[in-house]
Amino acid sequence: MNQNNEPKETFEVLTPQGYEHGDKPQKMKFSKRTSCVRCGTCCRTNPPTLLKADADLLADGTIRPEHMVVIRDGERVYSVSDKDIYIAPFEMIMLRGHGVSPACGFLAGENVCEIYETRPAQCRAYTCFGPQVTVTGLEASRMTRSDMFGEIPFVMEAISRHEAKCSYLLLADLLEAVAGGDEAAADTVLDMLQYDAQARPFLAEKLGLSPDVIRLIFGRPLTETIREFGYQVEQDGDDYILRIVKQEEPA
Ligand code: SF4
Ligand code: SF4
Repeated sequence: MNQNNEPKETFEVLTPQGYEHGDKPQKMKFSKRTSCVRCGTCCRTNPPTLLKADADLLADGTIRPEHMVVIRDGERVYSVSDKDIYIAPFEMIMLRGHGVSPACGFLAGENVCEIYETRPAQCRAYTCFGPQVTVTGLEASRMTRSDMFGEIPFVMEAISRHEAKCSYLLLADLLEAVAGGDEAAADTVLDMLQYDAQARPFLAEKLGLSPDVIRLIFGRPLTETIREFGYQVEQDGDDYILRIVKQEEPA
């Protein structure tokens, strides 16, 4: 117990389960928590995926377009907690961070969730101290763009055309071919980048939509997300130039 009589976050024990090199017993860490102490750690590293069960939070304006990001099927996503890049197994809608910060945008001040009483279903289900149930059934229970825009055929058609032209599964195949020296594949990637860039202002103007809504319809721009595939894009007027991201030299 600390001065405030609160349980410490972790403690270390010497375990008889094994020995490191030599005779030194291994140290293992265990969490002593039995309930959420609202420390905000999970909110800073793993913003939730929204589920269909969260639809009311969108309907009543608690969660608005500027709070969300769509992760498209096959998109490469950097995990702050694992410091690794994962491939999204299917489309998901997640809460966004502040700017480039991975921390949930609803986390304010001293680890205060601004919508704690009405927080999304995954936030309620997540426990850092117990079995993780959040991923179970995620594919079936997740919210998708069709839950948000399904009643606007023009938007759904735009999403469908964009996916057909700019799918991440296709991009991954093309970039593999580019790495092997395939110039036609490089041209197709450049076409894809042009399409992604032009579809956004076109739809925004046509339907009078804000940049946040457009980002939710088409996801993050390909010129940003392509970095997680190991490439970066430079713009020269209306033309794009594709370059391999240089690996940082080890210090
Ligand atoms: S569930 Fe999240 S906020 Fe609650 S104690 Fe665990 S890490 Fe902290
Ligand atoms: S909505 Fe609230 S509880 Fe959920 S991740 Fe964001 S700050 Fe944490």
